[in-house]
Amino acid sequence: MNTCNICGGTGWEFIKEGELNTARRCPACYFKKTQIKRLSSALIPSRYEHCTLASYHPQHATQKKAKQIAIRFIEEYPDINSGLFFMGTCGVGKTHLAVATMRSILDKGFSCIFYDFRELLKKLQHSYNTESELTEEEVLKPVIEKDILLLDELGAQKITSWIRDTLTYIINRRYNDNKITIITSNYMDNPVRSKEGKDEEENLTDRIGYRLRSRLNEMCKVVVMDGQDFRLNRQTALQHHEK
Ligand SMILES: [Zn+2]
Repeated sequence: MNTCNICGGTGWEFIKEGELNTARRCPACYFKKTQIKRLSSALIPSRYEHCTLASYHPQHATQKKAKQIAIRFIEEYPDINSGLFFMGTCGVGKTHLAVATMRSILDKGFSCIFYDFRELLKKLQHSYNTESELTEEEVLKPVIEKDILLLDELGAQKITSWIRDTLTYIINRRYNDNKITIITSNYMDNPVRSKEGKDEEENLTDRIGYRLRSRLNEMCKVVVMDGQDFRLNRQTALQHHEK
């Protein structure tokens, strides 16, 4: 383990103020300590812990573009007005890129929190139980107040009036406080629909409602990600279906 070259691992830096020898908290160790705290309170699931920009290897032009957008976002944050909405089918690395972006912002010293959409709803519902350790307010506080909220898999659960009210509350609070939100969703604005014109493939508005969709449009830049493999598989599946 590396010993801190400012404080030698004591946590205190000895300095001279005029004739006086004095000590102050070591700035490097203090940053590291708060960084560890920030990281653990970001609630990144262990399966995404190792997601970094360096380990994201784009396979498709839209993925490459998405990575560039993420890099610019990180450079510019916090001088930025809108968040990012990574939209695309399974397996294109939306969550990887979103987590990597959030981690980089965290490394700049900002507070972040990760929530899977369904997990957040589950946690809120659980908070209504009398045995619950946390109240609804305590669950919502970091979701509303952290500098960055990463909401993963938006739309994964079909909307009910309770979900709509909850989501609207979170989104509006963050919007009014100019907080940046990063979102991922498997649901697209314009999904490929089958030739028969049946809406078997729901779009994002079907999943979360028109008002929320349009509010999110004001808050986030949409980044559509595509995967070549998926497209091929899909075409094969459609052809297969037509036979
Ligand atoms: Zn130190």
